[in-house]
Amino acid sequence: MTAARTPGFDGHGIDGHGIDGCGIDGHGIDGHGIDGHGFDTLAIHAGQEPDPTTGAVVVPIYATSTYKQDGVGGLRGGYEYSRSANPTRTALESCLATLEGGSRGLAFASGLAAEDALLRAVCQPGDHVVIPGDAYGGTYRLFARVLARWGLDYSPAPLGELAAARAAITPATRVIWCETPTNPLLGVADIAALAELAHEVDALLVVDNTFASPYLQRPLALGADVVVHSTTKYLGGHSDVVGGALVVRDAELAERLAFHQNAMGAVAGPFDSWLVLRGVKTLGVRMDRHCANARRVVDLLATSPRVTRVRYPGLPDDPGHAIAAKQMRDFGGMVSFVVAGGEPAAVEVCRRTEVFTLGESLGGVESLIEHPHRMTHASVADSPLAVDPGLVRLSVGIESAEDLRADLAQALG
Ligand SMILES: *Cc1c(COP(=O)(O)O)cnc(C)c1O
Repeated sequence: MTAARTPGFDGHGIDGHGIDGCGIDGHGIDGHGIDGHGFDTLAIHAGQEPDPTTGAVVVPIYATSTYKQDGVGGLRGGYEYSRSANPTRTALESCLATLEGGSRGLAFASGLAAEDALLRAVCQPGDHVVIPGDAYGGTYRLFARVLARWGLDYSPAPLGELAAARAAITPATRVIWCETPTNPLLGVADIAALAELAHEVDALLVVDNTFASPYLQRPLALGADVVVHSTTKYLGGHSDVVGGALVVRDAELAERLAFHQNAMGAVAGPFDSWLVLRGVKTLGVRMDRHCANARRVVDLLATSPRVTRVRYPGLPDDPGHAIAAKQMRDFGGMVSFVVAGGEPAAVEVCRRTEVFTLGESLGGVESLIEHPHRMTHASVADSPLAVDPGLVRLSVGIESAEDLRADLAQALG
């Protein structure tokens, strides 16, 4: 069914103001704002009007599975069963749709649940998907171990090179799946160019916008058809929830995805939706600090004799810098680097940090460090997506920058 929208929860911003899909708060590709409202205003208010019955300023956690009907078929606000729609989830979905410049958002139990629903909705057995040569490990595993058995074919390609992306397309290609920046190498792909390429062959461009978040990058405005999020990361922002989301602009595609969301059932629960919604309110201020701290950390790493390579799209000599500067507001909080001495040296650095917590995931207020080869990317160790055993990945948090720099300096020895 169609998830109902109470007034103001229509996915089009607050007070009936729409969103023109052009740029980020005056910092976008073509300089347009979001119809008179800044990003941070929308993050706090879109889809979140005070409760009409009590005046509660914060959207309540609607812990209910079902809804009283006023006579058979007489739905209040369209709600009938919480797999189909729940008001807390609706508020989150509406807010995310607004922030990404889409017509509809759909919240799922995890990023991978969102990906699975999307791929089963837009592909069928026999179709083909071009995926990034350094896709998120869980995304690669979903293609290689789950959807391949369903009959979905895929080819990894370095999507930072347009010619390589083009060469990977087959007559059966239905989707180009892009992540930018990528995990863990922070590779950058040109969203506008990939959208053009996908549309040339009647395929969809899907962009996993988890690393950038809509504050830094808005793929739909650049021509992408679907945005994917692990809301577990920057959108939630506090390492206290696992969730996922899809945002689209096309109404027909939105309906198809909503059907699959309900038919497959991996929806975000009301408490999880509430946590993500709360996180989103501070997305802008958190991202500004994540980016500023990442720059300070990169400055330190770039001068360390123990570090042989730093991967960060904000570095002027990074291969992705020019495109990142064109399509992103800032360069994000993720940094990867290679330690001289390979795996044992990288593992030792991860063991020695004290402020950076050794752990998987990313995008929370606290800084995390991890060893992709043996942790997040262990599942791709024997695949074409295997990563350098000397690589260390940082999710730079919003603690005091000096503490983060001192911690890394002592860990590098
Ligand atoms: C974490 C992550 C995912 C998967 O999301 P889950 O919420 O863990 O299921 C997908 N893409 C990227 C880039 C991620 O970092």
